[in-house]
Amino acid sequence: MSTPADLCQTTNKVGEPCSARAWRDGLCIWHHPSRAQEVAAARRRGGQARSNKARALKALPAELMTNEQLHSYLGIVFTWVIVGKIEPGVANAAAGVARVMAELSRATELEQRIIALETERERRRA
Ligand SMILES: [Zn+2]
Repeated sequence: MSTPADLCQTTNKVGEPCSARAWRDGLCIWHHPSRAQEVAAARRRGGQARSNKARALKALPAELMTNEQLHSYLGIVFTWVIVGKIEPGVANAAAGVARVMAELSRATELEQRIIALETERERRRA
């Protein structure tokens, strides 16, 4: 159990004592001035990740995408990379996911065609 002496000696945004363990000079890793740049960068990354996730959830349909829909989303991703709106790495990841989705869709279609052929053969035999 932490005693007040082990805890960070500053207060948070709402004026309550910081509840994090002190790291150096009586301050936690979030409040120590030597780490201010890293903390600011981590907060920015956290904010970006949250807003990217929220945008993706809002923009994408929850149901299965057709190949045509997938194609048109990839077209948007392609345009965004060209105009510098998203990083090429994000587009590569999206293309990777799209490839797997297309393979799954192809495999499902083949499976259905095989089932239909087998069903037809069984019917003719009977
Ligand atoms: Zn602190």
